[in-house]
Amino acid sequence: MAVPISQMWTVATYVLKKKFAGNKRYPLTLMLEPLFRCNLACAGCGKVQYPPHILKKQLSPEECFAAVEECGAPMVAIPGGEPLLHPQIVEIVNGLIARKKYIYLCTNALELKRRLPEFTPSKYLTFSVHLDGQREHHDFSVCREGGYDIAVEGIQEAVKRGFRVTTNATFFDGTDPNSVRAFFDEVMSMGVEGIVLSPGYSYDKAPDQKHFMGRARVRRLFRAILSNRKPTWKFNMSPLFLEFLMGKRNYDCTAWGMPAFSIFGWQKPCYLLQDGYTESYKELLESTKWEEYGVASGNPKCANCMVSCGYETTAVMDGFGSIKGFWDMVKGNFSLYRDDHALKLLSEPAPHGPATLVTIEETQRALEETNV
Ligand code: SF4
Ligand code: SF4
Repeated sequence: MAVPISQMWTVATYVLKKKFAGNKRYPLTLMLEPLFRCNLACAGCGKVQYPPHILKKQLSPEECFAAVEECGAPMVAIPGGEPLLHPQIVEIVNGLIARKKYIYLCTNALELKRRLPEFTPSKYLTFSVHLDGQREHHDFSVCREGGYDIAVEGIQEAVKRGFRVTTNATFFDGTDPNSVRAFFDEVMSMGVEGIVLSPGYSYDKAPDQKHFMGRARVRRLFRAILSNRKPTWKFNMSPLFLEFLMGKRNYDCTAWGMPAFSIFGWQKPCYLLQDGYTESYKELLESTKWEEYGVASGNPKCANCMVSCGYETTAVMDGFGSIKGFWDMVKGNFSLYRDDHALKLLSEPAPHGPATLVTIEETQRALEETNV
């Protein structure tokens, strides 16, 4: 179990209060995107493709605090873009800590080691470092040779300074499950608190559209990766969500549980799709036709989606929604998921690894323009 007890307690009491108050829809984690610009240009990224005038914009600390207070979620993930490029990121983080929010600052860690002295370790602050696998796979995925080594240096320094650190990885079609399992060994030996993982989602804007997976392939890949676990692996995610990825559970989307707020406002219906924006979380809840989203809706945009912003809230609500759900969650935290079929999947020939490093030159040029 990777999540500290105080955070689990906060989340559990929050979910139970909402349940007993009869709230059907409520936020669990706010995805706060203070900017879209980044110092990388990953092929699977749907954020850094915006034109330069958008990439230059950012939320002010006051706008971030207003969004956090209006929505009331106990956890705030700060993705981007690269949050460490925001000139007021320390003020934003300190303001959220003062509001007792559990923060996951998602970073590619290129700037982490240099910026660490500006932050203070806190149980409320976790650096969630983007690492997409072992050295060769990560560098290929982020289109940057040497990116893995820089990120690992940042992780080691953060762990040494007493910060909470997790890694977050996105896996695409062609991922070698054996390499991912070796990667889990590597990151756990760095002293991180836990691992976060996700299947890639097919953003319209992502330059590489060839490597996104359908649901059956996602389940097969995650069954191979997550079955027959080593006791040393810790995951900073709901165990029931991991079972969902492995094909052991069927859930539907609860995108209102992880709303996204950026310079455009509150994004409808989720972090991934852009079907409009609202000025408040309340308006997002009330004006979105939620029944038109999620796998059960038949919406083709949602057909292959299994990402956490749609389904992890469902898993958390399931875990705290009944005694059986709670028991399954407890069991999931300790189970190694023995599975002979998954062992056979691991012995199949590995998919071809990355051949050459991809550089998205046009995006790089646009980013250079905005990062000066
Ligand atoms: S690190 Fe990669 S995925 Fe993350 S915001 Fe930057 S370009 Fe996008
Ligand atoms: S299924 Fe995925 S893409 Fe569709 S609304 Fe939910 S999170 Fe968004």
